[in-house]
Amino acid sequence: MTTLDRNAAFEQDRAHLIHPYTDFSTFSKEGSQIIERAEGMHVSDTEGNRLLDGIAGLWCVNIGHGRKEMADTIAEQVMNMQYYNPFGHSSNVPAANLGAKLAELAPGDLNHVYYTCGGSTANDAAIRLVHFYFDQKGQHRKKKIISRQNGYHGATYVAASLTGIHGTKLGFDRIGEDFINHVSEANLYAKPDGWSDVEYCDYLVREFEARIQQLGPDNVAAFIAEPIMGAGGVLVAPEGYHKRMWEICKRYDMLYIADEVVTAFGRLGEWFASETLFDYQPDILVCAKGLTSGYIPLGATLISTKVYDVIAKPQCEGGLLSLGLTYFGHPVACAAALKNIEIMDRENLLENVCEVGPYLQETAKSLLNLPIVGDVRGSHLMMGIDLVSDKSSKAPMDAGANAGHHVFRKCMERGVIVRPVGDRIVLSPPLIISKEQCDEIVGAISESITEFQAER
Ligand code: PLP
Repeated sequence: MTTLDRNAAFEQDRAHLIHPYTDFSTFSKEGSQIIERAEGMHVSDTEGNRLLDGIAGLWCVNIGHGRKEMADTIAEQVMNMQYYNPFGHSSNVPAANLGAKLAELAPGDLNHVYYTCGGSTANDAAIRLVHFYFDQKGQHRKKKIISRQNGYHGATYVAASLTGIHGTKLGFDRIGEDFINHVSEANLYAKPDGWSDVEYCDYLVREFEARIQQLGPDNVAAFIAEPIMGAGGVLVAPEGYHKRMWEICKRYDMLYIADEVVTAFGRLGEWFASETLFDYQPDILVCAKGLTSGYIPLGATLISTKVYDVIAKPQCEGGLLSLGLTYFGHPVACAAALKNIEIMDRENLLENVCEVGPYLQETAKSLLNLPIVGDVRGSHLMMGIDLVSDKSSKAPMDAGANAGHHVFRKCMERGVIVRPVGDRIVLSPPLIISKEQCDEIVGAISESITEFQAER
């Protein structure tokens, strides 16, 4: 690419693109950093900066960047059969093969798959199917969904309504929320002083049950939760929390939707986290991101046999399941997913996560020695670091300090990409990361926080 092309791309981007989560007060002046190349653990921008990717693109590039094998698989599938409609009784080989593979890897009887274009559309499909399921059973009032404060479920209308992060709602209508309710997130760092983890868990479970009673069990259809909250700040729930929430769902004839868009495909050292790590069996499991390692968009809503047996019947004479996406089971995306899974398997990437993940968690604990680091938490290759103005009171940073953003910029100057989420730093590196690269990331964060603190 010539310098002219690079400059043109910068100007074209600034003139024409509406980026997600853009700060329009600075965008027109600063424009975008344009990433031009990506290989292994690194990406490079058009200014010639080579950066260690501590966030796997956006929680997704699990096998690392720039794999030729992926490019070859995608090219081969394009030349073989790049697209044909998937409606009705029409299918393609990669979609069918991947369906069988997902059924094999997913826990319990999650044997049926509805493909989508990403995580948001997979969550939307989950909610439509939950409503359809209860309609089929004649429980027409059972439609309300309980989600959690600070949970992130996507950007389409329903997925954005499921999302419980306050800042994502500013200025937007909340039409979906007449049927979507939010209960507290499980945030061990913010639990009331003097409460044990067990007491806190009891409280959350009681709150959930009270909300079901308040809404009326006949009206509540499902609960949706991430096994570990990602964009909400990498919040790990107290021991036993998910299992207890799941048991309550069963008690009230509700479905449990596990949003594993971030946690599936290795980030926690397992193909899926719900059953293996947290001991519950979702009725519906949503995945995306790591499914193709972000080489090409794909999402999947996995459905249990219990739910399938109800929805897989005509709702009336001649009735069809009117849930049609043009790109359902896209052959190129499904071929990429199969190759991605093959690579993860062949290179023992889950084992790498189980070895390097705990090392990252342990090494990063050293950041707690810094005066403004309140909490360092996570599991395997998911990590959240809270910046506070006072450790003992856990008081937040001063309004306008923009601490997360400053630390992110300073890490970038040191050649490391981290993700700022308010006054939190979040990490989710590719699963191929080495211990040395964990040291590099933690070192850059430590220096950046120290420098930020000195400048305050
Ligand atoms: N669910 C979770 C847990 C996510 O983290 C995300 C995206 O970050 C989504 C859903 C939405 O996925 P997508 O951006 O692919 O639509």
